[in-house]
Amino acid sequence: MSALADLMSTASPRPDPRGCDLPTCPVCADSMIAAEASAYLADNAISYLWTCDTCGYGFVTKHTLRTKITCN
Ligand SMILES: [Zn+2]
Repeated sequence: MSALADLMSTASPRPDPRGCDLPTCPVCADSMIAAEASAYLADNAISYLWTCDTCGYGFVTKHTLRTKITCN
């Protein structure tokens, strides 16, 4: 609980172009907070499953990891 509170309080109120790009729901434009699931695809590719809490829409994004993940 406190960890989530800390996460929320320290999160930038606006998207940081240099930071992690959290997707937004293509249906209702709500911001996704955490992926439902992730899948390792290939050498440097990962896909994430997102489900919108607001409208229930689900979608998948793919990410290519060029270097270390620094956004966690
Ligand atoms: Zn939505």
